[in-house]
Amino acid sequence: MSLADIIQLLPDSVANQIAAGEVVQRPASAVKELLENAVDADSTQIKLIIKDAGKILVQVIDNGKGMSETDARLSFERHATSKLKTADDLFAITTKGFRGEALASIAAIAHVDLKTKRPNDETGTHIAIEGSKITQQEPCSCSTGTSVSVKNLFFNVPARRNFLKSNSVEKGHIVDEFIRVALAHPNIAFYFYDDEVEEYRLEIGTLRQRIIGIFGNNYNERLVPIEETSSIVTIHGFVGKPEFAKKTRGEQFFFINNRFIKSAYLNHAVQSAFEHLLSRESHPSFFIFLTVAPSFVDVNIHPTKTEVKFEDDKSVYAVLRTTIKMALGKNNITPTLDFDQEQSINFDYKPKDGIVKMPQIKVNPNYNPFDSENNKGYHSINRENDFQRNEANKLNWQKLYQNHQNESVENSTIIEIEKTQQEVISTSWQNDSFDSAEKPTIQIHNTYIISPIKSGFMIIYQQHAHERILYERILNNIENQTASSQQLLFPQTFEFNLTDASLLSELLPEIKTLGFDIDEFGKNNFVVNGCPVNISESQIKPILEDIIEQFKNNSGGADLKLSRNQKLALSMAQRISIKAGKYLETSEIKNLIDELFACQMPYATPKGKTTFITYSTEELEKKFKI
Ligand code: ADP
Ligand code: MG
Repeated sequence: MSLADIIQLLPDSVANQIAAGEVVQRPASAVKELLENAVDADSTQIKLIIKDAGKILVQVIDNGKGMSETDARLSFERHATSKLKTADDLFAITTKGFRGEALASIAAIAHVDLKTKRPNDETGTHIAIEGSKITQQEPCSCSTGTSVSVKNLFFNVPARRNFLKSNSVEKGHIVDEFIRVALAHPNIAFYFYDDEVEEYRLEIGTLRQRIIGIFGNNYNERLVPIEETSSIVTIHGFVGKPEFAKKTRGEQFFFINNRFIKSAYLNHAVQSAFEHLLSRESHPSFFIFLTVAPSFVDVNIHPTKTEVKFEDDKSVYAVLRTTIKMALGKNNITPTLDFDQEQSINFDYKPKDGIVKMPQIKVNPNYNPFDSENNKGYHSINRENDFQRNEANKLNWQKLYQNHQNESVENSTIIEIEKTQQEVISTSWQNDSFDSAEKPTIQIHNTYIISPIKSGFMIIYQQHAHERILYERILNNIENQTASSQQLLFPQTFEFNLTDASLLSELLPEIKTLGFDIDEFGKNNFVVNGCPVNISESQIKPILEDIIEQFKNNSGGADLKLSRNQKLALSMAQRISIKAGKYLETSEIKNLIDELFACQMPYATPKGKTTFITYSTEELEKKFKI
């Protein structure tokens, strides 16, 4: 007896039941699978009906492409899928399902009724299955699409049935799944009935309309649109305005390729984009859609798990963070954005009148290259052409610091904000001089600038801050054709290799808008007669090389996809910014701070590096255990 073989193959029905345990944990899992199948079937209308929190009935009716009789029968076999034909397909998955497990699993542990018809078929197919056994298969008359009813879930697995939670808990899970699928597909109408009561009626519309349809009309004013296209990820969606952040993690949704996911890592990216706008305990809401190449996402993750792995997540993190920061920055400047329209954030600075002028070069006749005054500091660059410092922007910054102090951010209304602004005007640190004894601002290690703010203090990284300032200023000059040029006493010629020369020649019109007076001069040579004001002659060649480099590295990993003008501005800003390690005069420090906070997006360099961080007195008190 002891020598007898003891290994047996499990009967299919048992294997299916075990597998079902993985796929179907509760009624909400069936809801998710059925809704996803309906989406995969190209439906434009999907109806979800539940009874007794899904314990008695989960039914999904769609108007999608339906199934043939054979397919209907096959759909209940394990590993039966129409979505994956070869292993290679695994890396190009665009559908929700692909494992072919869901229907087989559900049919193993419930009474399932399927009715399905393809658009051109006269009759449809009806199949009834109980615990993996087909009890009925017959032609039927039904409308185009598929209806799947799942009754008496876990009827044959009492342990699981007993494990189910109260109706309100189970229904909560169902609603979560419904919302996730509905949010991801505003181009499909969704209807949800619970015990014959209509709970959601979501017509086809925009993402904004879908969010409002689900969460209520008052979301309309809360949403800040985000949008960004880069070589590794495309992002769109909305983040909630900081003043509507909640103490509990509220509506936080990430979708990768329209599939809901959870990611603590990406969550952190969002939270950190809000870092100076929210008190630590409050959480922003967001509805963020990331699109990446399917091969970029790890498909080996379990189908019912929502955690996801994708390649190069560091870059995605950086792009996401910067995109949100930018969107919030824009939003701060114009607190009364018109939210009735779908807004897309425009990273470009367009000329106000919308007319793009021919590049022209303005020559500064007073320029004297030997005048040391002109060569001194960053703040003498092109001062008279500075775009106007945006006072309103500064006020918003003030507001932030104030909000930081009074913790009732959550309840703040627009009226309150206005009031705060009034207070700000009278107490603004911008109006006080920075070098007054009261507000000492110091540079340490010739690199960091420390300055008190209302709620504590901030540390600015001078190089990053200056890069941001220059970038915005140069970009503005390019867009408005206002760059000033200085004539060189002795024109300089430079030779480039063939590739670089042809790239440079193609970029000449744009390079001229930077303030370069530059022309082709024979084969692969260029002559520079003038350059932007306050660029030393020795910087000309490196800047041209930087520009060439910038345009060559198009696929540059984490880089945002920048417009031509943005690239030009970026190359120049990086090259001529004051660097870490440079001593700054008090007046230069003051200018740097002033101009940083007059920027549209003061938080980060164009490449997303932090320009400053803040410490609250609260944090200090904690450290000193006060
Ligand atoms: P998967 O979705 O992973 O392919 P499922 O078990 O969920 O596996 O479904 C099996 C197959 O049944 C699908 O590949 C699809 O061809 C078909 N199917 C399921 N639901 C529907 C539906 N609502 N409309 C049309 N076809 C469907
Ligand atoms: Mg499926």
